[in-house]
Amino acid sequence: MKSRGLYIHVPLCASKCIYCDFYSLPLADEVVTQYLNALTREIQLKGEIWGGPVTTVYLGGGTPSCLSLGQVAAILKECNRFFTWQHGSEMTFEINPGTISKGYLRGLKNLGITRLSVGLQTTAPRHLAILRRRHTVGDFIRVSENIAGAGFVNYSVDALYGLPGQTLAEHLSTLQAIVAAGAKHVSVYGLQVEPNTPLAQAVAQGKITLPAEDEVADMMLGGRDYLLSQGFSHYELSNFAINGYQSEHNAIYWRNEEYVGLGPAASSYIKRRRMSNAADLARYGSLLTANRLPVAACEQLDGLWEMGETMMLGLRMLSEGVNRERFRRRFGCDCVEVYSAFIAKFVAQGLLEVTPETVRLTTRSFPLANQVQMAFLP
Ligand code: SF4
Repeated sequence: MKSRGLYIHVPLCASKCIYCDFYSLPLADEVVTQYLNALTREIQLKGEIWGGPVTTVYLGGGTPSCLSLGQVAAILKECNRFFTWQHGSEMTFEINPGTISKGYLRGLKNLGITRLSVGLQTTAPRHLAILRRRHTVGDFIRVSENIAGAGFVNYSVDALYGLPGQTLAEHLSTLQAIVAAGAKHVSVYGLQVEPNTPLAQAVAQGKITLPAEDEVADMMLGGRDYLLSQGFSHYELSNFAINGYQSEHNAIYWRNEEYVGLGPAASSYIKRRRMSNAADLARYGSLLTANRLPVAACEQLDGLWEMGETMMLGLRMLSEGVNRERFRRRFGCDCVEVYSAFIAKFVAQGLLEVTPETVRLTTRSFPLANQVQMAFLP
């Protein structure tokens, strides 16, 4: 079956982290009610148009674990009236390591959730405080035990590096805690200073100083070496997994395949059309009340752009790369012929590798990955 993802954005957070520019709102009963009512309408509207089989389901945010089990069950039940998935399909649920009980996790399992994604970021108390994360290392250890106790094997943890004053030893200590906790997948991101965040303001005012570029690169490479030594494969630029635990849902994005996004600020990609929902609960809700799709931006991609994006995104996958046969089936041509000039140049520079099956980045290209990827866009 062709892969197709379903993403549900839960725009609720107990508090706002200093670096975050995702759309989320402070948790309050009336906000939850407004969100759930509007989401139900969106499921029905989009379900009638784009319903059908999906291969993965992902509840992200925000903080989906702000919802009660009953609310999660109601969302999935409504989705299931229009979107179908096979029992045991990858269904991911993001949690923060706050007060998540074993009972809540067991409940998620009973709802069919097969994979958890835990937003840890760091184990250093001073960094958790700077980032305004609400949890402690103790919370992470407890939630990891509860995850295992509830019978989940497939779980991922997010880590951030390049934090203010962070050393390589501190980053490695976070990764060691994640591996010790039994995670099968780790997403490791460099801290980005997004415009209009409190972090951007603090950096501009000189209140926060970030590590130098070479220190950040050392953390990236040191973290990578450590995870490889623990049996993880570096299968995507920011993602590591024990074999068999790679994220199927994220692979849909990286292969530039279709997904339906629900919830404020969620994106969809269907029939070469990229759509973003209004990133504002009031606007999102009022469009749905008027029986209109809550879409704020829509872009119809032409064939050339779609090919370029397929190259750009596919190169994120370090082991799989851009699968030439899949590309040929989709576009009727060989990507190595279409992009022969770029590919020859990058191969000569040692930045790309071409095999009969794939085109992929080399280890040497990591610091320049973005530059190589962007060259494929028209
Ligand atoms: S918990 Fe996640 S979504 Fe919420 S503010 Fe923090 S980083 Fe953003």
